[in-house]
Amino acid sequence: MQRHDIVICGGGLVGASLALALAHLPLDICLLDPAPFAPAPRPDDRTFTIAQGSKRALTALGAWPRLSRADFQPITEIEVSDRSGRFGLAHIVASEQGVDALGFVTGNAALLAALYDELATTTVTLRQGRLGGLAGDADEITVTLADAHEPERIACRLLVGADGTNSAVRAACGIGVDRYDYERWAIVSNCRVSRPRPHTAFERFTANGPIAALPIGDDRYTFVISRPDGEQWQNLDDTDFLDRLADAFGDRLGRLLAASPRLRFPLIRQHAREWVAPRVVLIGNAAHTLHPVAGQGFNLGLRDVAVLAERIAQACRTQTDYGDRAWLGDYARARQADVANTTRFTDGLVRLFTPRLLPLAAARALALNLVDALPGLKQALAVRTMGLKTPLPRLFRELKP
Ligand SMILES: Cc1cc2nc3c(=O)[nH]c(=O)nc-3n(C[C@H](O)[C@H](O)[C@H](O)COP(=O)(O)OP(=O)(O)OC[C@H]3O[C@@H](n4cnc5c(N)ncnc54)[C@H](O)[C@@H]3O)c2cc1C
Repeated sequence: MQRHDIVICGGGLVGASLALALAHLPLDICLLDPAPFAPAPRPDDRTFTIAQGSKRALTALGAWPRLSRADFQPITEIEVSDRSGRFGLAHIVASEQGVDALGFVTGNAALLAALYDELATTTVTLRQGRLGGLAGDADEITVTLADAHEPERIACRLLVGADGTNSAVRAACGIGVDRYDYERWAIVSNCRVSRPRPHTAFERFTANGPIAALPIGDDRYTFVISRPDGEQWQNLDDTDFLDRLADAFGDRLGRLLAASPRLRFPLIRQHAREWVAPRVVLIGNAAHTLHPVAGQGFNLGLRDVAVLAERIAQACRTQTDYGDRAWLGDYARARQADVANTTRFTDGLVRLFTPRLLPLAAARALALNLVDALPGLKQALAVRTMGLKTPLPRLFRELKP
């Protein structure tokens, strides 16, 4: 049986970020994931918007400086409108908010590679394996690995479930979820355009749901299209797909020229009913999964990382048992308001801009005009988009936890 102080189950963006956030503490950390920890692209090479605040946290973790300049695009302007780009147009501009960029667009693969490269310089154990089961007593918890020839076990004082929406840790603890299915899909494709607008992102609200266009460099944009008929859209050939997309998005970026193969993701909102169990804590998508419309999921998970790492650092300083349920309960309470507010914000946007949920295009246009006309409202939207809502945990001030 191997022993570590903390096992983080799930080496996705959130789990890998937590491993780095804890790496400087006097703790023996193991990061567990079924996929190899190689900085190679994974099949789901999604594009992400990273808020200003999250960039600061990733800088403190040492991952952001490892990205090459071609790996990310700063966003200096976000244009929110209906299809025509004329009615209900709201602009959020970085210079008006006193920052050089509202956020950044980067790829899942590039960011994971940067996190893994930085982890390779630490003492964190990177363990390839899949959590199969759990057993525990008052002092430690034991993880059993699935798919191993011989049953392999790892004991630890704290197990962090960072294993995503279908968390095995959560299931093994018997924690249920509240799940809402938007009955829609996100179709994601990278396209070339004839009239790029550098550093400008678009959020279009169409009769059939929102479309986001995120600049990824040169003349290329990632389009994220929310549709009820996602399977049909995924199976369109390139020409039909580009025609339909152009029809829905409009001509703000000129003609759409070429599209990468389409990826499809179900759109759900899901919350674990508990975030802690004896010697277990859930973070990131294992605890809460959001609709991607506002690009908040990873940004929210990174704030879990920042607060949990700060709490564990404090436990190390005061020689407190960081796996103690009451101690973990304080962490969960500290995260409740941010998760609830971000969920409400994201869900509110979906409801406002999903035709089935708010049929009046005029009401949507009015809402957008209001955002643009009321500086306070726009400022609030911008602050949330930038991930700079105070109080900021240490990582978001570029400080180690
Ligand atoms: C279309 C789309 C667009 C999005 N855009 C944005 C955006 O712009 N900005 C943003 O902030 N968020 C965005 N999100 C949300 C974001 O993708 C997630 O919030 C984020 O990836 C969650 O990270 P995670 O590490 O918690 O989970 P995951 O990325 O799901 O990682 C979970 C990890 O756990 C591992 N694992 C699974 N089971 C086991 C097991 N049994 N044992 C061990 N390991 C296991 C997996 O291999 C994986 O590596 C988007 C989501 C979608 C679907």
